[in-house]
Amino acid sequence: MSFLRITVGVFTAAMTVGSAIAEAADLPGSSGGATPCTVALDPGHNGVATNTFDPVTGVLMADYPNGQEDADALEIARAVRDRVEAAGFGAVLLKDAIDDNVSYRDRVDRAAAGDAVMGVSIHTTPGADGSAVYPQRVGGFRTGEGADGQRTTVTFGDVATAAESQRFSTMMAGARSVAELRGVPVTDLSFDGREGLWGGNLPVLSLIADTPWVYNEFGSVTGGGAHGISTAEKARYVDGLSAGILAGLTASPRCAVAGSVGSL
Ligand SMILES: [Zn+2]
Repeated sequence: MSFLRITVGVFTAAMTVGSAIAEAADLPGSSGGATPCTVALDPGHNGVATNTFDPVTGVLMADYPNGQEDADALEIARAVRDRVEAAGFGAVLLKDAIDDNVSYRDRVDRAAAGDAVMGVSIHTTPGADGSAVYPQRVGGFRTGEGADGQRTTVTFGDVATAAESQRFSTMMAGARSVAELRGVPVTDLSFDGREGLWGGNLPVLSLIADTPWVYNEFGSVTGGGAHGISTAEKARYVDGLSAGILAGLTASPRCAVAGSVGSL
């Protein structure tokens, strides 16, 4: 309980000001409530190399195992899940084991089936300046050769989902900046010129998700990606992700208590 009060100051204040409901048992997602307010946690890369086309959008879903990154991401995702659940919210993991074969389509379908309010991808990368948060944006796209051999472009166009993704991403970047003791920006990616991938500027997962998605990279000073990150770096990543997720869930209009407070 002390963790919740310290980390999610917004929620504590809301509970105090907003109503007489001040017990942890009344948090969204706790027993006795309706559907838990849930986050979908997406740890790292696929367990096997995969190169298929999304049956819904036609985008190329290319992914590959990436050594220690995938073990680190799964460990971090499990720790974040425990934090989120301890605070009374729900969490679903989109991979259960390091070598699970779960396509991007499978992942967004699992997030939707779990009625997730937010999807959170967890990655690591070399370089102290590599930490970043990537939101969905209207007009974000990927482009390349489709299953029929024709040039194909898939573009993100869901205004409401993009707006929520950007709102969550801002909260995530703030929480992670505090935990990592450095600035973590909300910014954009480029996949142009990367061998075996379609060009463009949205991760495929973010592009095809109907769920507001927050795609995270953690920049490691000593390793990162396939080289792994240190125990201290993992702890900072877990802290930042957990606080960012709890802030986002608390502020989501889909989470009943926070939604009612927002109308005051
Ligand atoms: Zn990665």
